[in-house]
Amino acid sequence: MNSLLATYANVIGEDIVDHLTQLSRPLRGMKVVHVNSTRQGGGVAEILNWLIPLQRELGMEAHWEVIQGQNEFYQCTKQFHNALQGNAAIINQVSLKEYEQTNCQFAEKHGALLQDADVVFIHDPQPAASIKYFPKRKGKWIWRCHVDASHPYRPVWRYLSKIVSDFDASIFSLADFSQMLPHPVYLIPPSIDPLSEKNVELSEDEIRNVCLQHNIDPKRPIMLQVSRFDRFKDPLGVIEAYRLATAFIPTLQLVLAGSGADDDPEGAVVLAEVQTAAREDADIHILLLPPDAHRTINALQRAADFVLQKSLKEGFGLTVAEAMWKAKPVIGGDTGGIRLQIIDHHTGFLVNSPEGAALRIRYLLHHRQHLLEMGAKAREFVRQNFLITRHLREYLTLMVGLVHQAEYSHG
Ligand code: UDP
Repeated sequence: MNSLLATYANVIGEDIVDHLTQLSRPLRGMKVVHVNSTRQGGGVAEILNWLIPLQRELGMEAHWEVIQGQNEFYQCTKQFHNALQGNAAIINQVSLKEYEQTNCQFAEKHGALLQDADVVFIHDPQPAASIKYFPKRKGKWIWRCHVDASHPYRPVWRYLSKIVSDFDASIFSLADFSQMLPHPVYLIPPSIDPLSEKNVELSEDEIRNVCLQHNIDPKRPIMLQVSRFDRFKDPLGVIEAYRLATAFIPTLQLVLAGSGADDDPEGAVVLAEVQTAAREDADIHILLLPPDAHRTINALQRAADFVLQKSLKEGFGLTVAEAMWKAKPVIGGDTGGIRLQIIDHHTGFLVNSPEGAALRIRYLLHHRQHLLEMGAKAREFVRQNFLITRHLREYLTLMVGLVHQAEYSHG
């Protein structure tokens, strides 16, 4: 077995890697092109950074091209992004023209590759208009939408949906984020990388040291929520749940880990409220971490007895999968993608109030054996469903389906 896949096999088991190898057999030698708008920064680039090497190892000729433009192009695509997420965005004709022209130039530059590719993945709206310049394209073109497009701003969606309708299929991350389109629409949820700094195994010493550095007592029970300071993440509800639980478990410590909210005025207000609510309780630790503190977050998730993600509204909730992969039951808000991850009473608990959360906190800390069993189930559930290998498996399944469908209709 080749090296990257072998490394994954060591962590997640050979069965999953064998399955990928088998699934990719009909795709060997195929030319697969991914197009997005940046090589670094943001979730899409992160996905492509692991997806391209893995597709190559599985025998595909995988390419990654990046569309780049002038200022006006980015102004326009920023507005597309806002509009897809529901904000009223006004896009003037000059910007739209620049968008189309940049796509035209991109299509010219990569004409041979895109024309001949077996499968082309176009990520988000930035490169989407390039499809117009390939009326006789050979392969299947898929539009991969990474944002929440559940309530797009209609005038802009009318323009974008015309472009997107030309594709052979679309992919959205969650059913709630998707749109009706005149072609098959697939749902592929996000995933976590078990080999990233955020999720890799850590030594007991490292975990302990991170606790001590932040004045957390590793010998006493720890509950943790990792989140931006945002109302939808309900940090005040977490403090309330902690307070209700400490009446019964006085040794409990709460860690709220997030980043400083310098560039987010709303975040700064929420953080101030959280600091006020936590005042005078030395067992509430509010940690303001730099954006690259992945290993620290990893250690805190491992140090915790269980994890909370008490969101009132949530997209997917990566923090839930991260904690579950570390064999921690998660008490999560009964909303959005948290519902996909927490199987109530099995991999964690779904809750609708601070009182509900407090009840589950007490339950977990009084039933240690059950806590461990739920944690083990949570890890296995993530292994099967929310690692990048599942994400890759779904891309492969989709590609096999589309390519075979093409063979069938031609033959
Ligand atoms: N995260 C982080 N530092 C923080 C807060 C969050 O690195 O201070 C990470 C967290 O571990 C997760 C991601 O940011 O990987 C948050 O993703 P999620 O889907 O949970 O929530 P979002 O912030 O996208 O609403």
